[in-house]
Amino acid sequence: MSSPIFLIGARGCGKTTVGELLAQALGYDFHDTDHYLQQVSGQTVADIVAAEGWEGFRHRETQALMAVSAPETIVATGGGMVLAEINRRFMQERGSVIWLQASASVLASRLSAYPQSSQRPTLTGRPITEEMTEVLHQREALYQQTAHHIINAMQPPEQVAAQILDALSLARA
Ligand code: ADP
Ligand code: MG
Repeated sequence: MSSPIFLIGARGCGKTTVGELLAQALGYDFHDTDHYLQQVSGQTVADIVAAEGWEGFRHRETQALMAVSAPETIVATGGGMVLAEINRRFMQERGSVIWLQASASVLASRLSAYPQSSQRPTLTGRPITEEMTEVLHQREALYQQTAHHIINAMQPPEQVAAQILDALSLARA
C-alpha cells in the first residue's frame, strides 16, 4: 500500500514530530500543510488569518491538502483540517487517516513548554488549557469520524510511529 497517510489531530498532538519519524521509517516524503501554505504564500498562518480571516485560510488549506497529497507521502495536517467536509472526504477516499489522540491537558502542557511550535494565533484568546478543552470539544467527533485508525499520542513519538505502522500493516523500509 502506498497511498498517502494523513495525520489529523489538535495542535500539539505530534503530527509533525511523528510524521517525520514515519516518513523516515517508510522512506516516504513528508509534507506539512501549514509549512506548505507558508512556502507558497510567503506568509505565516497568522499573516494569512490577519489578511484574509479564518475563512480565507481554510480555503487555502484545502488547496494545500490537495497539492501535497501523493503516493508514498505522509501528510501532517493543520488542527482544523477536519472542519471542512471536502477535506474529510478527500482524506478518507485518498488514503489512510490517523488521529493522534491526546487529552487537552497534555496538549496544553506541550504547547506551553514549546510555544514556538504553536504557529497559529490562539483561537479564543483564553488560557491554553481552556482553549484546548474547548477546541477538542468542538472537534473530537470530527477527528473520530474521519479517522480510519485512532492512536494514543500520549506515548513517546517512536512508539506512536510504531503503532501506526502496525495499524496499517506497514513494515519499516
Ligand atoms: P503538531 O504538529 O501536531 O502541532 P508537533 O509535532 O509540532 O505537533 O509537537 C508539538 C510539541 O510537542 C513539540 O514540541 C514536540 O516536540 C512535542 N511532542 C510531539 N509529540 C510528542 C510525544 N509523543 N511526546 C512528547 N512530546 C511530544
Ligand atoms: Mg505541526
